[in-house]
Amino acid sequence: MTTSADWFDRARAVTPGGVNSPVRAFGSVGGTPTFTAEADGAWITDVDGNRRVDLICGWGPLLLGHSHPEVVAAVQDTAAKMMCPGGSTPGEVELAEAIVKRLEGSGVDEVRLVSTGTEATMTAIRLARGATGRDLIVKFAGCYHGHSDGLLAAAGSGLATLALPGSAGVPEAITAQTIVVPYNDLDAVRAAFAEHEGRIAAVITEASPANMGVVPPAPGFNRDLAAICHDNGALLICDEVLTGFRTGPAGWWGREQEDPERGGWQADIYTFGKVIGGGMPVAGLGARREIMDHLAPLGAVYQAGTLSGNPVAVAAGIATLRLATDEVYATIDAASDRIIAAARREFARVGLPVAVQRVRNLFSFAFGDGEALGWTGRDEFGVSAPTNEDEVKRQESWRYPAFFHAMLDAGVNLPPSVFEAWFLSSAHDEDALAAIEAALPAAADAAAAVTR
Ligand code: PLP
Repeated sequence: MTTSADWFDRARAVTPGGVNSPVRAFGSVGGTPTFTAEADGAWITDVDGNRRVDLICGWGPLLLGHSHPEVVAAVQDTAAKMMCPGGSTPGEVELAEAIVKRLEGSGVDEVRLVSTGTEATMTAIRLARGATGRDLIVKFAGCYHGHSDGLLAAAGSGLATLALPGSAGVPEAITAQTIVVPYNDLDAVRAAFAEHEGRIAAVITEASPANMGVVPPAPGFNRDLAAICHDNGALLICDEVLTGFRTGPAGWWGREQEDPERGGWQADIYTFGKVIGGGMPVAGLGARREIMDHLAPLGAVYQAGTLSGNPVAVAAGIATLRLATDEVYATIDAASDRIIAAARREFARVGLPVAVQRVRNLFSFAFGDGEALGWTGRDEFGVSAPTNEDEVKRQESWRYPAFFHAMLDAGVNLPPSVFEAWFLSSAHDEDALAAIEAALPAAADAAAAVTR
């Protein structure tokens, strides 16, 4: 039998670090990455024969679990007819229509489909610059928008500074166009607009951040952010690549509109990915018609893609959105309640203070005593919780590798980083949830036992 360790050796010989996306290398938890043989519903089986409950779910796309039969059928039927015709196909229109329909009231009139979230945000920024005739972009520290140059910017010292490159190979001249400010800090955004008056094209934000662990926007944060942008002639880009159609039928934007404390705002450009491809490479951006008209072939902002709107990929997205009913969201929300309750019980039993970082069905846990660590927020249970990247990074992240490996040993596939959300799906049934609950006690023991 070729084991995961064998495959990793072979992979390292032909692929940098043995992986095609860095977090898969288990760098922050140690050990050998598992290689998947097959995945079905809530379960994933590695080439070593271990079957585990999966809490990665493709990093978000698999709202319905792995290989939902109707999604697979849609892919197979389409692939048998065509794979890459090179011209337009009906499926592209149907997927765009489904997205526009779900986002009624958001301002999204039109959608352009691309293949990855990175392309979606990169295009959104080019579009914002083209539409406003301005160059600067504001982003929040800890928000991830893919790996295009200008968005791989790390905060410089102090608030509202022009950023330094967050990766080798990115010229300072490019990140100098990006201003990085702390999340949940509207004063820092106002300061950036005051300092760079008339020069900021857009602020880009995750609808609700989930790439520094989950860090919910403070109530009214997105609404006030939109107002600040509009008062200053800039656009708000709401990145829903991860939250879109996962946290609710109309994404996190839609969830906020249901809440009087948060609702009543529109972004100017929204980006999507993950769920709209149902596990296949589809992403997109949407906006009002007059903004979208700046894109080629109508306008002067160029964007294109050989695989954009690929019929096999959009078939998976259409089927996923069709099946993503209110009931699906309610099921995953309830499953999230249950797993969060079970984890809190076990962390309390072993005396580990932990904050629940959560928006609806997206959640993660931050380890540590927030009072001592200076966290300035509260979780839904009144526990001190982090509100931005700086606070998140203060946590006892060194406890996570032991927790992660104990869960893995007990049959649960967690994200291999404390700074990632746990992804449930509608396929996580009683058996799967019970298996997670059964794994938690030993993992909590392991997290408590580890010393720095
Ligand atoms: N935006 C957000 C909020 C994301 O979470 C991600 C990926 O995790 C991206 C953009 C980039 O998407 P992709 O990995 O498809 O390029």
